[in-house]
Amino acid sequence: MQWRLLAAAAVLGAGPALADTDAASSALARDIFRELIEINTTESAGRVTSASEAMAQRLRAAGFADPDLQILGPNDRKKNLVVRLHGGGRHRPVLLIGHLDVVEARREDWTTDPFRFVEQDGYFYGRGTQDMKSGDAIMMATLIRLKKEGFHPSRDIILALTADEESGSSNGVEWLLKNHRELVDAEFVLNHDGNSITSDHGKPLFFEVDGTEKVYGDYLLTVTNPGGHSSLPVPDNAIYQLAAALTRLSQYEFPFELNSVTRGYYESMSGIETGERAADMRAILQTPPDAQAIARLSRDPVDHSIMRTTCVATRLVGGHANNALPQRAQATVNCRILPGHSPEEVRRTLIGVLADSRISVQYIDDQGEVRDTASDRRGYPPPPLDPQVMKPLGKLVAQMWPGIKVVPAMSAGASDGVYTSAVGLPTYLIAGIAIDKDNLRAHGRDERLGVESFYRGNEFFYRYIKALTAH
Ligand SMILES: [Zn+2]
Repeated sequence: MQWRLLAAAAVLGAGPALADTDAASSALARDIFRELIEINTTESAGRVTSASEAMAQRLRAAGFADPDLQILGPNDRKKNLVVRLHGGGRHRPVLLIGHLDVVEARREDWTTDPFRFVEQDGYFYGRGTQDMKSGDAIMMATLIRLKKEGFHPSRDIILALTADEESGSSNGVEWLLKNHRELVDAEFVLNHDGNSITSDHGKPLFFEVDGTEKVYGDYLLTVTNPGGHSSLPVPDNAIYQLAAALTRLSQYEFPFELNSVTRGYYESMSGIETGERAADMRAILQTPPDAQAIARLSRDPVDHSIMRTTCVATRLVGGHANNALPQRAQATVNCRILPGHSPEEVRRTLIGVLADSRISVQYIDDQGEVRDTASDRRGYPPPPLDPQVMKPLGKLVAQMWPGIKVVPAMSAGASDGVYTSAVGLPTYLIAGIAIDKDNLRAHGRDERLGVESFYRGNEFFYRYIKALTAH
């Protein structure tokens, strides 16, 4: 069965034939993948601990000793798994992270049962096939394969499979760093939470490595007013006051800023793009950067947000009766903050931009509590891309997907990398799974992953970790 499917998939996909993947490792990865998909790990009805226990059992069977295998967490449902493959002590460990929880999925919305692993028409279907039980299975299969062949890495390899990346209040990475730092301490972190390779009709376009991410921040703007009867309006009106301030915000741009990662991104992309876009990308890399090139690129929402912190009004509420002057008007402003800047710094910028001392600007924290000030802690600016990480990657990508470029990037969304980065551990999102640009179904219905993509990604990750930790 396995072989027949592999052959069918090889015809569908691009890149060298799958003859260069290892059949036993593919079968193992598929079996772990199946098991994980069929363990419900949603916030509403699932149990992450069950997935951790199932994985621990496989690791034990593969020869990992109990002291190197920990299942731990803040409560019975949200236990994380940490396992260590010992290596030489000359370098500090590498930490691999993956979340076990998945986004909610309702049977009635899906064509297949989201918690049943279905292989059909060259795809694996099920909640978590893209985000990110495929990655969890691949990291597990890699560790087991290395253990079985008696590989002695140059440094310890730690794998942490964790809870509550998608939702819930027991984020496993945050909890482990806070309560068991010694178990997960590392020189750098590899996060598998993504795909890396964007493809078009199966043809790989580029290999993206996220080396940093923006920080999320919500702010609450409030105007209060004595109000009164709406038949006797006065110029001083809470809604007008807030609206005028929001107009000022809509016209404000945070300053242009590149960091080591986004600089590398535009260097690579200027070689992939053509024409004026490519020229503009080169022009913003100059000192000083070309202002007109910045303006032209900023018309693209993606480029616009790569080059600066952004803040945008996302919610609005005001007034209490149709026939009364408003006593209160409120807006929520959502910001995506460049690494190296603090939420409090952005709050102060907002106060300046809104330019109305009667508008209070408060911070809404991760728990939804409204606070008068925000955290002053600045996210670490991304470190220069580490050659220990990038060099073996470039070599391997050239072998497995000849002709495509490795592009460093800053993630627009937030992942668990935000916690490891926040404590100063350089974190790279590297996955090696190809997903067509019109097949992004993470969090969506009928989530699926190409069969060939999965097996190739599995082979890639094994070879990459081996190259990364070779003596
Ligand atoms: Zn994810």
